[in-house]
Amino acid sequence: MKIVIVGYGPGGAAAALAARTFDPRAEIDLVTEEEIPAHKKPGSALALEDPDTQELYIPDWSTEVLAAKKVQIHSGTSVVGGDLSKKTLDLVSADDQTSTVKFDRLIIATGGIPAVPDLPGVDLPGVHTIQSMADTSQIGRVLKDQRSIVIVGAGFSGLETAERLLKMGKDVHIVIRSRLMRKQLEESMSEELLSRVPKRIHLHLGSAPSRVLGSDRAVGIEVGGKEIAADSVLFMTGVRPNTILAEKLGLKLGSLGGIPVNSRMETESSGVFAVGDCVEMTDPLSGGPILMPVGSTAARAGRQAGVAAVGSDKIYDDTPLRLQYDHIFGTDIVVVGHSSTTARDLGIDFAVSYLEDPSESTKVALVTTEKDRLIGGQVLGSRMGSRIGYEILKRVETGAKLKEQPLLKSRHGQLLSLLERTLGPIR
Ligand SMILES: Cc1cc2nc3c(=O)[nH]c(=O)nc-3n(C[C@H](O)[C@H](O)[C@H](O)COP(=O)(O)OP(=O)(O)OC[C@H]3O[C@@H](n4cnc5c(N)ncnc54)[C@H](O)[C@@H]3O)c2cc1C
Repeated sequence: MKIVIVGYGPGGAAAALAARTFDPRAEIDLVTEEEIPAHKKPGSALALEDPDTQELYIPDWSTEVLAAKKVQIHSGTSVVGGDLSKKTLDLVSADDQTSTVKFDRLIIATGGIPAVPDLPGVDLPGVHTIQSMADTSQIGRVLKDQRSIVIVGAGFSGLETAERLLKMGKDVHIVIRSRLMRKQLEESMSEELLSRVPKRIHLHLGSAPSRVLGSDRAVGIEVGGKEIAADSVLFMTGVRPNTILAEKLGLKLGSLGGIPVNSRMETESSGVFAVGDCVEMTDPLSGGPILMPVGSTAARAGRQAGVAAVGSDKIYDDTPLRLQYDHIFGTDIVVVGHSSTTARDLGIDFAVSYLEDPSESTKVALVTTEKDRLIGGQVLGSRMGSRIGYEILKRVETGAKLKEQPLLKSRHGQLLSLLERTLGPIR
């Protein structure tokens, strides 16, 4: 059994390790065009400040760990095509050597491509996207001597980058077309987060940029008829699936532009799997297609594909679940499962309720179906965010109803159960 995995991000690395765990004898080859191993993109803005940082590597997915598990890594090598009927892939190495490799099972984990709006000036020098750590380190070197930076987009990575640049003493502008983390957060949660953004950051809300300013290099951006001068412009406007290889191999794309996969992460072509930012999964609740370019989802999908590729029927139910956590501007931000925006897009009937604990600067949004089943939640908190996020995750995973498992017990309720554990039933 020879398994070839294309991509060394969380999806590819997790697939290699899972396949090895379930099949000690399979031949596993991992091909990546990058020269560096899988790394954390959360926190990748750190490379702006410290371009040579080693902190973002993930020890469990290092080349040494994979080599010890007999996973053969071909770095600096691109897969440029192939033939699924013959089960072959065409490779080009960094020194332009071409070769063909045969596989029994293929796992495509080619990630995403930055989704940059098609505006005049976006190709000018001085316009950047942050995708890989190598990009970020390179941008860090360029930005070192610059003063003023515009970030377009206010998702996790845009805000993380803004925080890092502010720490580096830059003059930071953020351009936000609608509101902070529109897809992931409820409107009032966005407002709460907005109130926690340091006042030194210049926020430009409510308009999309119309062009990048400059003739031979970017000197700013035009937004809502207003010109914002800057030395660099960073587009942090999300990713779209990288399906270049899948299309060359003749795989059909789904309605959202990703590679459609079933719950085993198998594509329409038997024995060919796909995971991570390049795929379109099925939302278990509505049956609708979803894109989820999130590292933890890619890793879970990789695990599923690795296990399926070696012939196991095991299905992990949590694969398509969204889980994102970050700590930005002194606030824990946790997003689990559906928000009202993603639920609405899929035609799911939902209700949203809120919990607040002002003493802990904590605000929680809970998204439930009309039958009170918890399907998602968001937490903003000065601390304990991950703890509450975990409690939400547990309930979303088990399909719990909030009435049966309230998220936060009242102090009185906590005291009562403590007493009952010690003294027996009190009522
Ligand atoms: C700045 C930033 C911050 C982020 N923050 C978070 C966060 O806080 N939390 C979170 O969960 N997620 C975060 N993400 C998203 C997360 O990093 C991605 O969802 C995750 O990396 C996707 O993993 P993947 O395995 O699908 O692909 P990737 O990690 O993108 O890896 C793709 C791999 O495919 C290889 N490849 C592509 N095409 C070919 C080819 N033809 N031949 C050979 N190799 C090829 C590349 O070399 C690479 O190794 C962030 C992303 C960015 C950009």
